[in-house]
Formats: sequence, C-alpha cells, structure tokens
Amino acid sequence: MKAEFSSLRRYLPPVAVVCVSAACLNAAQSAAAKFDSNRAYEDTRQLVSIGPRVAGTPGAAAARAYITKQLQAVGITVEEQPFEATTPLGAVKMVNLRATLPAASGAQSAGKLVIGGHYDTKLFRDFRFVGANDGGSSAAFLIELGRALKSRASRVPIELLFLDGEEAVAEWQGTDHTYGSRYYVEAARKDGSLKNIRAFVLVDMIGDRDLVIKREANSTPALTDAIWSAARKLNRHEFVSETTPIEDDHLEFLAASVPSVDIIDLEYYTRSGEVAWHSKYDTMENVAAGSLQSVGDVLVAALPALENFATRPGR
Ligand SMILES: [Zn+2]
Repeated sequence: MKAEFSSLRRYLPPVAVVCVSAACLNAAQSAAAKFDSNRAYEDTRQLVSIGPRVAGTPGAAAARAYITKQLQAVGITVEEQPFEATTPLGAVKMVNLRATLPAASGAQSAGKLVIGGHYDTKLFRDFRFVGANDGGSSAAFLIELGRALKSRASRVPIELLFLDGEEAVAEWQGTDHTYGSRYYVEAARKDGSLKNIRAFVLVDMIGDRDLVIKREANSTPALTDAIWSAARKLNRHEFVSETTPIEDDHLEFLAASVPSVDIIDLEYYTRSGEVAWHSKYDTMENVAAGSLQSVGDVLVAALPALENFATRPGR
C-alpha cells in the first residue's frame, strides 16, 4: 500500500495528493488505522519484564525508554515533560511523555484530542508489584495506538499522553494521586494551551482478561455516548450500559473544564476469584490481547465522532 502510493505520487502533480474532503479522509482512515493487539500484548509483556515501574525509580525510566524507542521506531517524536512532585514521601522526580500525531495536511484545527493513560505502577514494599494491567496495559495500548494511527489522516492533532504518578505514593487521598495529570493540566493552563485541548480520553486497566467496562459517571456524557455507540456498532459487549463513578486522571482535566471520558475496568480478579487489582496477581496471565483489541477497535471506530466533537463550533 505504501509503496504503491509513493510510486503513484511521482506521476501526479502535487495538488492531486492533497486530500481534505470528508470522503477522502474517511477512505484514508479506514485504510490506515488497524490496531494490532498482538503487538500491544507484547508491549505489555516487555513493560512487565522491566519489573516495578514506580514513579521516580529506574524502573519508570526504563519504561519511558521502552515507550520512546517503540514510538521513534515508527517515526513518532516523543517529548518529555519532567516535573518534581511533592508527595508524602518527599519530592519525587516524575516525567510525563507526550507524542503528537499531526493532523492531515489540509485539515484545519486549532484544537487537539488528547488520549492518555498512566505508565507508572504503584509502590508496594511487601510484595513485587509489576502492574501488567494497572500501568502496563494503558502504556502498551497507547504505544500500539500510535502505530495504528501513524498513517491515519486525522482531522485534528492527536496527542498520546503517557502519564507518570497516577498512583498514590501512600494512600489515595488529598493530593496523593494523579500527579502527572495535575501537572500537565497546570502547565497547559500556564502556557495558554489548555483551551486547545478539546477532549481528553483516558484508558486505564483495559487489559483485564475478563473485560467489563462500565460508563464512568464523572465523564462527559457526549464523549461516553460517542464511544459506547461505536462499541454497539462493533458488537463489543465488553462496553456495558451500567454506570459507576471512578476517580482517575480524567478528573484533573474535568476540573479544568476539559470534556473527558475514562475507559476503565476497575473490577479485576484472577480466574479463581482473588483480587488482582493492586495485588501480586496483576500479572500477564490475567491480561488478554482480546481485551486490548476490543478497546483498540472501539476507540479507532469512535475517532470520527471524537473529531467531530473536537471541531464543533462554539469551543
Ligand atoms: Zn492502580
């Protein structure tokens, strides 16, 4: 496909390859965006093989190196956003990673769509926590989404945001959580770019072998509707109509009036019924490629609606 296109290009005047109509963009999108969960599963496995990836530790740095290497390999530039977080355990150096996929040439948009998830794992001293689902799946998902969307003709720039410090250093209370998203939103407010973020889509714990994603109650209904409608069309029954409220990185964006949605399955158990969330059981055997595929397919299918949302007048 790629080779055919470039050989064709040599014989066409430049104007013929500029493509801005909706039909033309749709054709390019369907040809290009294919989420491959086998690759995402392998990325999860690679991240887990690093071991714990707690914010401020060498494990987190190794995870960043892996993420960066994967995205650079397909020609996506990765930018670091370092900051120092004040935690109950003192100052911790944390780093968000940002990778922007530009809009198609000819597409006009001041706004962008941010799709994010955390890559850090929670600190546990009494057991070795490797966070295959919690921290691994979201980071791996975003890497593969980058590969899938690299050649897609998007109508708005899409930023992939790998958040650090989602997990509490001690207990999830006060400000001991979501350090990365809080810093990101604050930095965007300061540099005047906050208004350009038209929507934020968060993925978290989407690798659960037994995936059931409820509508998250704090999320912006129009964004939830767009995603659940895509799931219905694809017969992805993992997206159910039940609603549940969950505190996560999206709350920092919602507090700044950025429309946001959280795609998360917090109910995470082993086959024999032990709690896998924040436990030694959050390992590869409780994560399934099929779950990553479901969320990948749904999100890719929902992108045109999300782009409509991001480019709607009045924002
Ligand atoms: Zn967690």
